[in-house]
Amino acid sequence: MAVDEADAYLIEAVQRGDQQAWSEVIDRYQGRLISFARRMLAERSEAEDIVQETFLGLLRSLPNYDPSRSLETYLFAILRNKISDYIRRRQRGQRQSLDQLKMDDTPEAWIDAETPSHYVAGQENLAAQRGALVACLRQWVAQCTEQRRFQDLIVIEMLVVLGLRNKEVAADLGLTEPAVAGIKFRVLEQWRKLTRSAPGAHEWQEADLAEDSTVARIWREEGVSCLKRSTLGRFLLGALDEDWNHYIDFHAHQADCDRCHANLEDLRSEDERDAEWRDQLRERCFASSVGFLSRVEG
Ligand SMILES: [Zn+2]
Repeated sequence: MAVDEADAYLIEAVQRGDQQAWSEVIDRYQGRLISFARRMLAERSEAEDIVQETFLGLLRSLPNYDPSRSLETYLFAILRNKISDYIRRRQRGQRQSLDQLKMDDTPEAWIDAETPSHYVAGQENLAAQRGALVACLRQWVAQCTEQRRFQDLIVIEMLVVLGLRNKEVAADLGLTEPAVAGIKFRVLEQWRKLTRSAPGAHEWQEADLAEDSTVARIWREEGVSCLKRSTLGRFLLGALDEDWNHYIDFHAHQADCDRCHANLEDLRSEDERDAEWRDQLRERCFASSVGFLSRVEG
């Protein structure tokens, strides 16, 4: 799925210190972030604090943000970091205010491979390889949905996200084991084709389809098969056909994608009744972070 053009435009404006654009970024993402946070934290106030911190984290780490990547993926990565840090501290009995949380806002997965400002010898190459893999996997997912090969998509997610074995996948889908092996073989061939022209192309092998592979990690971190918000909206309206419904249901519920789940929750609650807290949260996130805008610019 291509990077959202509206996001790219907004972030560019934010980098110039545009307050209106910043307010729009908050408005666009606060609902799905709060839905995500509420799945992990019992108190609404805790979830709101963490979301506020997440927006602040985005501004602080903006120099590390790569505009060719998805803003939603980036925000969810910051939010995940903050929640796990918060829960870890709470388990240790450390009560402290949220502003004592990690000041390093850039998600680690980002630094590992793709942060332009963290280039060291060899890193550039690694980033290019990862970028090529992500592009290949996304392209493949797009082809699957266009050509309605939803079953292939489900099989791959069962392997790399749920960590199931061939036998379990077969039992779950009512297929034979050789049929599952055949799908894996075919998919690896398709991935080979998609990366053939890339320099230093990845050598695809069956191990790439295991839960602990680099490919599987990238798949999960990047939300490679996550659905567009507009598609999820159509799903809720009942405007999609049976194959689509089945796939989205699998991805969000059976494969338990927390990000798509959060988007669905947020879309479900997007009615008048909720308008008030949305305004309040947006104002709060804005007020707590707008001071950073001028600093970003420098
Ligand atoms: Zn998803």
